[in-house]
Amino acid sequence: MSDPTPQIDKSKILGAGFRGRCPECLEGPLFDGYLKFAHECQSCGFDYHSNDVADGPAVFVILLASILVVPLALAFQIKMDASIYLTMIIFIPAIIGVCLALLRPFRGLMFALQIMNNASEGELVTDPENYDEN
Ligand SMILES: [Zn+2]
Repeated sequence: MSDPTPQIDKSKILGAGFRGRCPECLEGPLFDGYLKFAHECQSCGFDYHSNDVADGPAVFVILLASILVVPLALAFQIKMDASIYLTMIIFIPAIIGVCLALLRPFRGLMFALQIMNNASEGELVTDPENYDEN
């Protein structure tokens, strides 16, 4: 299997995805809106419909946001002896904010990972004689 972008350093591809830039040319905007991918790169014309990250980034964002916010909420409630309602009023918007802040970078990062690893939808091999490893 060949690397789809051998001329560009992989960390730069991941960084570009994280910043919401095209993983092919590292310059064009990846998003058209907050979370919606653009149709193609404005700089190099790379088709963004070739891959779909679906809900994959949300799983990692929810896990990371929980790891970051829940211990703070527990510490706040224990140290301040706060009511559960006060804790919820403060930390539910906090966890939503952290999720919204992380979702776009993670979406771009996962898209860049798919491009970098030439990921595609799985296919069922029904005829082993005509199996193509690529
Ligand atoms: Zn581009």
